[in-house]
Amino acid sequence: RQGVVVITGASSGLGLAAAKALAETGKWHVVMACRDFLKAAKAAKGAGMADGSYTIMHLDLASLDSVRQFVDNFSRSGMPLDSLVCNAAIYRPTARTPTFTADGYEMSVGVNHLGHFLLARLLLHHHLNKSDYPSRRLIILGSITGNTNTLAGNIPPKAGLGDLRGLAGGLRGQNGSAMIDGSESFDGAKAYKDSKICNMLTMQELHRRYHEETGITFASLYPGCIATTGLFREHIPLFRLLFPPFQKFITKGFVSEAEAGKRLAQVVSDPSLGKSGVYWSWNKDSASFENQLSQEASDPEKARKLWEISEKLVGLA
Ligand code: NDP
Repeated sequence: RQGVVVITGASSGLGLAAAKALAETGKWHVVMACRDFLKAAKAAKGAGMADGSYTIMHLDLASLDSVRQFVDNFSRSGMPLDSLVCNAAIYRPTARTPTFTADGYEMSVGVNHLGHFLLARLLLHHHLNKSDYPSRRLIILGSITGNTNTLAGNIPPKAGLGDLRGLAGGLRGQNGSAMIDGSESFDGAKAYKDSKICNMLTMQELHRRYHEETGITFASLYPGCIATTGLFREHIPLFRLLFPPFQKFITKGFVSEAEAGKRLAQVVSDPSLGKSGVYWSWNKDSASFENQLSQEASDPEKARKLWEISEKLVGLA
């Protein structure tokens, strides 16, 4: 049978490119889990995805109720779940004041980490676990922020979760800190990088807790710098103008949305990328390899602590 893959944030950029790449193989039915139904419908049509090769379902990761509602709707659809891709993200690089999710958590960490944490846990337990598909996978998008072996991974402000005191305090801002490490001042660029460290730590903790028991593959990836996506929409205009050529000609880390989409599609379905607990990257010849994570992004003690605090914040503990 066809595999069924849920991709969050499939209405633009990498998520859309991967949705298209997978749907075109004919081997996958893609569930596009998106916050803006109409935008997703237009994006799928605009990308030339064939009717019947995808289903759009509403999901707003900035609301834990919406996450639970999505899981209910998915259950009612009767579809099996064979792969989950936690791809959606927001990035507020110039923000100096926090914004908050429906549950009152700082937005970058609330959407990129906490919303996906709840979604992954519920879908793993209720669906992925029960699928009879030969190779089931749960993928969470990482970022170069976790690589210490690259220039871009060392550009300030660097990610740093500290002792997670801000997260434990609920990332509320007004009555505490909106930053995971408990800093008093808010830095939108760092909040995004911190959320990506959470994504990579969560993937490894899922691997440690569930891989042996379930046989499910847990993986993360850095698909390359896709400097043209909407992720940079909140950056200053000059940055948006110069960033793509900078990545193309100086760092040479630039990849097109189509190429990045193919890379993500490989992590979903390529038999040679079935190993669990891996953070995939690609070299200049577009060959995949198992990359090393920074010390913080691979710290098992921090991953365990992050897991326990996150469970409380999303109402699982
Ligand atoms: P885009 O901004 O193009 O796509 C992000 C997607 O997330 C959009 O579909 C957006 O929806 C969705 N989204 C944002 N907030 C929410 C929410 N509250 N609920 C549901 N969906 C939401 O960015 P990219 O394609 O570049 O990013 C995709 C992933 O790739 C991210 O995880 C990012 O961290 C990662 N990545 C990107 C890199 C790059 O260079 N671009 C490099 C490394 C990693 P909408 O269309 O409605 O805005």
